[in-house]
Amino acid sequence: MELERLKFLNEEDIFEIAEKFQTPIHVYGETEIEKKCQEALNFPNEFGLIVRYAMKANPNSTILKIMKKNGILIDASSIFEVERAIQIGGYQANQIMLTAQEFPNNLDKYINQGLHFNACSLYQIEEFGKKFQGHEISVRINPGLGSGATKKTDVGGTSSAFGIWHEYIDKVLELQKKYNLKITKVHTHIGSGSDPEVWKAVAKYTLEYAEIFKEVHTVSLGGGYKVGRMLDEKSTDLQKIGQPAKELFKEFYEKHGRKLKLEIEPGTYLIALCGVILTRVMDKIDTGKNGYEFIKLDTGMDSNTRPSLYGSRHPFILVTKRKKTGNKKNYVVVGHCCESGDLFTQKMGGDIDTREIEEAEINDYLVMEGTGAYCSGMSTKNYNSYPELPEVLVRKNGDKVLIRKHQEVSQIYQNEISIDI
Ligand SMILES: *Cc1c(COP(=O)(O)O)cnc(C)c1O
Repeated sequence: MELERLKFLNEEDIFEIAEKFQTPIHVYGETEIEKKCQEALNFPNEFGLIVRYAMKANPNSTILKIMKKNGILIDASSIFEVERAIQIGGYQANQIMLTAQEFPNNLDKYINQGLHFNACSLYQIEEFGKKFQGHEISVRINPGLGSGATKKTDVGGTSSAFGIWHEYIDKVLELQKKYNLKITKVHTHIGSGSDPEVWKAVAKYTLEYAEIFKEVHTVSLGGGYKVGRMLDEKSTDLQKIGQPAKELFKEFYEKHGRKLKLEIEPGTYLIALCGVILTRVMDKIDTGKNGYEFIKLDTGMDSNTRPSLYGSRHPFILVTKRKKTGNKKNYVVVGHCCESGDLFTQKMGGDIDTREIEEAEINDYLVMEGTGAYCSGMSTKNYNSYPELPEVLVRKNGDKVLIRKHQEVSQIYQNEISIDI
């Protein structure tokens, strides 16, 4: 079997970063992020395109600034993300859309500054309507079908609580009338599988909603463009899935005389392959003749929970200054947490798996690839009181700069109130 290779760093970069900073550490590549932004901005469209970054994928302020500089707007999943993007990411409220499961009670401040609100339930439309009669609003519809690599990343269909069920459009119309709302955008986001056929079908349904709501000028088809992290996984070809949708927008214009703008909001696509976690092999264990050979890393589910959550696979590449043996081995790769689920090589459902890697020694580096999205921002951070990882950005000129400091242990418990016992 072909072994995984480094995607954007070289071995010299690895040694430099490990020696200058430390392991474990998140590493991102500015050049790679910019390339992804350009690919997204080239998404096929007929009457204009807006690309929003689903910032929950990686909300580090430096990442946000790179997105902003490259003409990418924001999709926020909570009012706190809105606050973060404005306070430290350099964005203005009118460049952000809020698509949240929770209706915030301090929305006024941001709506007055131009924040776009995407209602995800009938209750949210009602609450928004009461506060902002006559205001513009976007609505998220669950079109009744979904797409996901796993059940947990599929967010459309009857088993999904995301968005307004498509059979309740009449109720949306009632609320629109009751509060004199201007529905200017319809939105669907069905998950992270991005099956081209499903995607096309959803685009078609979404345009049917645009037909019902006459004031709609923008149609958002959400995110969920899958990227292949492993050699045997495929990435979504944006040109390929976008082309049929472009045709549909053209047909819509010919039929209804309305030029609809397209909006997409990738998270994974923009950042997943632009980051790695640089780790060190800190121990080796085996369980005898009929057992397994384990390598233990100096990080775990506290920096990347995706394998335990979804059975996701990340490439592992061995980097070392010693002379390699040239042998390959089938290893079980585990994290440093005292938790049996802290297993980087596991199948969906938790069964143990192995991975063929070059023979490893303690203190070798192991580069975990494809960790730019949903790792530093989504993990069992601080479990076992392991501090949050620092993050470093490889600038376009090759400079390596820290964009998050190493967390001190005292920062983990700084909000605790220690009472006398
Ligand atoms: C998470 C999310 C996205 C991004 O999904 P990816 O799979 O990372 O592309 C886009 N839109 C909404 C509403 C989301 O919740």
